[in-house]
Parts: sequence; C-alpha cells; structure tokens
Amino acid sequence: MNIVYLTTEAVPFAKTGGLADVCGTLPSEVAALGHQCTVIMPAFRSIRHTGLAIETTNITFAIAMSDQKLVGARLLKTTFRDGNVTVWFIEQPQYFDRDSLYGTADGDYSDNAERFTFFCRAALQAIDRIGEPVDIVHCNDWQSGLVPALMAARPKSYPWIAKARTLLSIHNLAYQGQFWSEAFRFTGLDWSHFNHEEFEYFNQLNFLKTGIVTADRISTVSPRYAQEICTVEQGCGLNEILQGRSNELHGILNGIDESIWNPKTDPKLVVNYDVDTFEHGKRENKESLQRRFGIDVDDSLPLIGMVGRLASQKGWDIILPVLRWHLSENRPTQWVVLGSGDPIYEAELRLLAEEFPGRLALYLGFSDELAHQIEASSDLFLMPSLYEPCGLNQLYSLRYGTVPVVTQTGGLADTVINTTAETLDSGTATGFFLPTPSALSLDETIGRALQLRYHQPEKWKQIVKTGMLMDFSWRKSADQYIELYAKTIALKKRSVLP
Ligand code: ADP
Repeated sequence: MNIVYLTTEAVPFAKTGGLADVCGTLPSEVAALGHQCTVIMPAFRSIRHTGLAIETTNITFAIAMSDQKLVGARLLKTTFRDGNVTVWFIEQPQYFDRDSLYGTADGDYSDNAERFTFFCRAALQAIDRIGEPVDIVHCNDWQSGLVPALMAARPKSYPWIAKARTLLSIHNLAYQGQFWSEAFRFTGLDWSHFNHEEFEYFNQLNFLKTGIVTADRISTVSPRYAQEICTVEQGCGLNEILQGRSNELHGILNGIDESIWNPKTDPKLVVNYDVDTFEHGKRENKESLQRRFGIDVDDSLPLIGMVGRLASQKGWDIILPVLRWHLSENRPTQWVVLGSGDPIYEAELRLLAEEFPGRLALYLGFSDELAHQIEASSDLFLMPSLYEPCGLNQLYSLRYGTVPVVTQTGGLADTVINTTAETLDSGTATGFFLPTPSALSLDETIGRALQLRYHQPEKWKQIVKTGMLMDFSWRKSADQYIELYAKTIALKKRSVLP
C-alpha cells in the first residue's frame, strides 16, 4: 500500500505533544512492514534544528488564497528513520517560518485558519507534484481536517483522487480548529459547499468536524477514547456526529518508540538499566537529577514526577493543591515538574518552587532530555488527566519503572492496571487509579501508593517490573493501522455531497 501522512508535527522535526511522537514513528513502522510511506508537513522553523540534511527541490507551485492573493510554496525533502520514510516539507516562510507552530503565550496566531487551509490545499498539490501512487491519505488532527472535504468537493482536481481513500486520526477532540465563517473563503470553493454535510458547523468553519463528516474512516488513539467521544460528556459538541459514524470509528492505541524510549539504551540517562537492574539504575539517575536541581540528595524520599503541557486537561487544578499540601506540611516527598503552557499554572508553580526550595525541582519550558531523565528518576508519575485520548507519558513511565498514578479515563484506563488485592495477587498490577478526579482523591491515591512502597517493598518491585515488561511496541499498533488501511481501501468511495 502507498500511504501519505499529513501532519503538522513529527519527531524530530516539530513537536508540541504526542501527535509528534505518533507521526514520527508510525510511518516508519508501517514502512518496515513493506509499505510505501511518505510524510508531508509544513516547513516550520524547527525542522532546521535536527541536523538532518534537507534538500531544496525545484518543485514549486502557487495557491490562490483569495482573488488578490496568490501564495507560492516550494517543496523541501529529506528522509528519516534509516531512509525508509521520505518527508516532504511545504516551505512557505510567511506562514510557517515562525518561532512557534500554532501561537505564542498570548494565544493562537490570528491567521491560523489561513495558514492551515493553505497547508491542506498545498498538501494536495504536493501529492500531485510528487507524482507517486497514493492509496491512503492519512490526515491527523484538525490541521489537516479539511483535506477529505477538499478531495470530495473537487474529485476531478487531481487524477490520483479517484483511487485514494482518506483516514482521519483524532489525537485530541478538544482542539477542533474552529473559525468564523468568512475563513471558508480560503478554501477557494463555492459557498454552496459551506453546508452541514461539508465545512459548516453552527455557521462557523470547523476543520475537525469537516474531516469527521467527510473522511472515509476515522480513528482515534485508544479504544476507550473512541467510545468516550461519542458521549455528551466527552464529545466536545461533536458526539452526535461521531455517533452517526461509530461504525467507521476505530480506536488504536499508540505505542512506544523503543529506539527513543528504552531505559536500557537511552543516551539521555546518566545510567542505563533494565528490569533486572532498575533499582540501581533509577537510584543513580535520581541522585543526578537531585544534584542538578539542588534539591536534597536523598534516595529514601519518594520522587513524584510530572511532564506535560500545563493545560487544565492534564489535571493541574487538582495537582497544584496536593503539591502545596505536601510541601507546606513538610511531608516526606520530593517533586519534579517539567512543563509549559497556561501562565496561571506557571505562576503558581514558580511561587511554590521559591517558597519551598529543596523540595520542588521545576523547569518551565520544553526539554526532551529532562523529560527522559524525569521518567527514569521518579518513583511515581502523576497523570490525573480530566480526559486523555491515549497519553504517552504513562507508557514511558511504565517502561522506565516509574509507577503511574492516573485517572480512569481514555488511554490511561486502557494501559494502566489498577492496584487492588486481586491484581496484586495475580501479579498484573502496574499503577494506581484515582477513584474520582479530585485533589482529595489524588492525595489519597498517592498515599495508597506510598504506603505500599514503604510497607510492602517486594510487592512494589513486582508492580514496577510488571509495568516495565508490558508490551506497548509500535509493531502491534502498526499492524492494526495496516488492517484499517486495507479496510478503508476496500470501501467504495463515499459520496458526501448533498
Ligand atoms: P499530549 O499529546 O496531550 O500533550 P501525551 O502524553 O500524549 O500528551 O504526549 C506528550 C509528549 O510530549 C510526550 O512525549 C512528553 O514527553 C512530551 N512533552 C510534553 N511536555 C513537554 C516538555 N515541557 N518538555 C519535554 N517534553 C514534553
């Protein structure tokens, strides 16, 4: 099969979250199983920082974004992952050569509707100009959500469209790319396409909804989340539309990229370790982290770690009170936090770090190296998300022998096995579920975990080892995607036009 991945993020070129991990790995895993995989993404400024050679091609084209505005683009090209995946970048400096991908601390870039409509339209041009066969166009999140609708609205605009099928993967339903109706004009289509079966949603342009109603198949990143997004509570307003397509909606768990996230080989760690040597390995990494941040060097203090976006989704409203209780009551715990995002959470964390030096190691910003070191050094990893499409950090925690404390939602519920009398007996426990998503419940669950660590160290070791040995390899997920691609190709072309 020939699969083209459209994405705005892929490790190592551009990353703000889990989407980058998925699109940086899935194509090469699928390619390793004998398929032809190509990635198309914007030439963001960060693609120049990878050290990989990027070739400037002579493929150029222009897109009329309005009657008066013709926007040119050039394709750049590289290969990654042992050369088995070709990545094409759409170079358009005014849209993409910026400090960030989507916006600044002050909010989203005001021209995001224009930038990503351009990306969708340019991607179709790029596929045509690259000139290779295409069976599946695999769109990811709202930024490429218009693509299936653009293909359906103008099926004859490129010859390859007749054969190609589309899959839209939802990595987070809350981010939909919704803009005022006037933004529709950037599509270059007649306004008759601005209707509920295509681009329109409550008189606005909604990229993700457009993809959901027009893609041949839809997937999301865990089976549990696939069910949750069809409910009023978790459907972010799109639940009825998703319910209507539930037969074509699939949940496939993300995997771990073992070439990047493996404590045995990870070059970002001070000491490497595996399931037989984790006690020594984690101790050494923890000591190094404690020294780096100038917090007390003491292995007996459990280190509680967190890495992630400082967004309410990740449960910061329940984490911050618990953190304050622990620090102000001088409880025997240490904390390490790596994150960036909402200035309100950043301010509270900064305050706590100043108030309680020696107890809270804080890094506000993005640091891949530190993310690895925190996973290796911590004893517990907190991820009490309000919702979680899949979540990668809890998978990394399991792999690195760091016991996850999570809410029972989405991918967290699908990947962590709660510690109960039964799962302890059967040796299947790998982490701890909060009974409810509240600060009190988080505090109690941390207490429950630490009790076990102190009073039943052998059982604790068993939990750590069981987690480290779980199979979250991409191979398993890649097999499921390939099956889904094959099913999608077998479909008759959908007709979405009213
Ligand atoms: P989401 O995609 O919702 O942000 P995931 O858990 O699926 O959450 O993936 C987050 C990814 O981004 C992980 O690889 C994590 O290590 C990384 N990450 C998040 N915040 C940071 C940060 N501040 N520094 C380094 N890596 C980060």
